[in-house]
Amino acid sequence: MPRLRSAVTALVAVTGMLIVAQHFMVPVEAQASSPVLPRQARTPVAPLLLPVEGVAASSLRDSFGAPRVGHRHAAIDILAPRGTPALAACDGVITKLRAGGTGGLTITIAHGTTSYYYAHLDRYAPLIWEGMPVRRGDVIGYVGTTGNAPRNTPHLHFAIEERGVATDPYPILTARTATRN
Ligand SMILES: [Zn+2]
Repeated sequence: MPRLRSAVTALVAVTGMLIVAQHFMVPVEAQASSPVLPRQARTPVAPLLLPVEGVAASSLRDSFGAPRVGHRHAAIDILAPRGTPALAACDGVITKLRAGGTGGLTITIAHGTTSYYYAHLDRYAPLIWEGMPVRRGDVIGYVGTTGNAPRNTPHLHFAIEERGVATDPYPILTARTATRN
């Protein structure tokens, strides 16, 4: 039955071409999407810990994108008494410890392609260093007003960057999966 065989052969060939075509079409669509992350686009692999001890997620206010002198605020400010422990929001590695500038005493933690930035710290936890692995919940520093924070408003300035793009921490920290502490 040569006619049937050729029909089957043709069907297989067409199906194969469709599969190949689909295979090549997907990455093109992905590339066309905007590089700017929607505010609630991503949730981390593990729920993020609220990075200030004793603060309830329900008390957070979203200050991401709020106008500041000369720029927009690319972080959330978490109010807490001076000296309140600041916690590693997830497992990661301390990649930067900096003092000075508008951020004052700062810590950057990296986890994969995501970085977590802590600013205005009063002081660091004892014995931390660049390159040190941290576990979620580790005390890494203490809330303060170093840098350009108002003297009477101690808070943690907490920023998240996903592949270098500032991402709003508020929806992540207030998601139902986030762990309260
Ligand atoms: Zn801030």
